[in-house]
Amino acid sequence: MIKRLLKKVFGKAAPKSEVGAEHLISFKEHKVSRDGISYGAKRVTDGLQAAGFKAFVVGGAVRDLLLNRQPKDFDVATNATPEEVRRVFRRARIIGRRFRLVHVMFGEETVEVSTFRRAVDAVDAETDEHGRILRDNEFGDQQQDAERRDFTANALFYDPTTQEILDYHNGYADILANTLRMIGDPEVRYREDPVRMLRAVRLSAKLGMKLDQATAAPIFKMKELLSNVPEARLFDEMLKLLLSGHALPCIKKLRAMDLHHGMLPMLDVILEQPMGEKFVMLALQNTDQRIAEEKATSPAFLFGALLWHEVLATWKAKQATGERPIAAMHAAMDEVLERQRVQLAIPRRYDTVMKELWLLQPRFEQRGGQRPMRLLALPRFRAAYDFLLLRCQSGEVDTELGTWWEEFQHASDERRAEMLLPDTGGPKKRRRRTKKPGAAAQAELPID
Ligand code: ATP
Ligand code: MG
Repeated sequence: MIKRLLKKVFGKAAPKSEVGAEHLISFKEHKVSRDGISYGAKRVTDGLQAAGFKAFVVGGAVRDLLLNRQPKDFDVATNATPEEVRRVFRRARIIGRRFRLVHVMFGEETVEVSTFRRAVDAVDAETDEHGRILRDNEFGDQQQDAERRDFTANALFYDPTTQEILDYHNGYADILANTLRMIGDPEVRYREDPVRMLRAVRLSAKLGMKLDQATAAPIFKMKELLSNVPEARLFDEMLKLLLSGHALPCIKKLRAMDLHHGMLPMLDVILEQPMGEKFVMLALQNTDQRIAEEKATSPAFLFGALLWHEVLATWKAKQATGERPIAAMHAAMDEVLERQRVQLAIPRRYDTVMKELWLLQPRFEQRGGQRPMRLLALPRFRAAYDFLLLRCQSGEVDTELGTWWEEFQHASDERRAEMLLPDTGGPKKRRRRTKKPGAAAQAELPID
């Protein structure tokens, strides 16, 4: 409306210098072709536009394409309400309670469609006592939708039909200058949502973009605000960070900015032990590499690695007081998991796998009798073996153990027989004396 009025008065669009005014960047300038957009996202924008709505690819995808990176996923923003979006597509469902989004499905691909919304400013919004906004689910117009986003580079709208980019906050220029800049007043924006501080670190480390000075400056004094963010949200952000494919630079940057205290208190303890630090860094590097090679990664493996040196230290302490190894390991695992739960809130669903990985570690030491074959046959062998290799690389255990297992897994039956060590490894199940024949063989059963 206002724009149309201004057009009438000025005979052209609103002056471009105005903050938040739209600025059109043509295909000739930015060179992001429609071909770079996923099949699903194109179908969604085409479908919505054909139904008379505005629809753009937004957020991280536009930023990544401009940086010549492959976007992780494509999100679409529109002026259609969630119900209107759902009516346009055959396979679409409304999700989310806090802010309703629509998932539109095309085979394997799911496109997330959000209706333009506006930031409710801290004066009107419901906030906690520190100014964190608790509710921000108001619909808005496109300009407001740009304004409520975090960084200028994340607030670009790409129209696959015209191949034009709409830029309200000079995000295009910031991307060219490789700068991550908060929209609006960074202090206000961090107060509204402290997770933005972690996003600043994660995105700058992941994209290799420098943080604008004014965006970085308040983080140091505002970092305490992270302690009021609900644990589940912090955990989600932590997981994004760890599985970003750039976990190592992210963690280094978090530490450099002194932001890791609220996030990974246990990591502080671990990183202070020289052996622990090396192990954690190797685990992060290994995860980054697996992601680069498009191999599967598991959060449980990574958390298991982050906590391993705590488990190890607790396990050793318990054994030193005379507890038997297996019982001491069980007690150590439970204790460490309980301790971290208060701070990092790793969900319980990862416990089983983490425990399995830890419990299998001592069994790699047992290289006689039937034990190696039984270990090899376990479904979790591969992950436990990868874990062992990290322990070898970090210098915690002799590399010879890793090399032995590497050879053993791939060796022929004869070679395996040669490789087995005298069967002295591991405690044996205590069994009652029996007169039955074969009892001696049974007594060799390992503790499974
Ligand atoms: P990634 O490549 O890691 O997915 P992204 O920028 O796409 O990065 P998402 O979490 O997918 O991150 O968010 C999509 C978009 O939503 C962002 O680009 C940004 O515009 C907006 N956004 C996300 N989180 C916030 C936030 N905390 N405050 C304001 N805007 C946000
Ligand atoms: Mg994204």
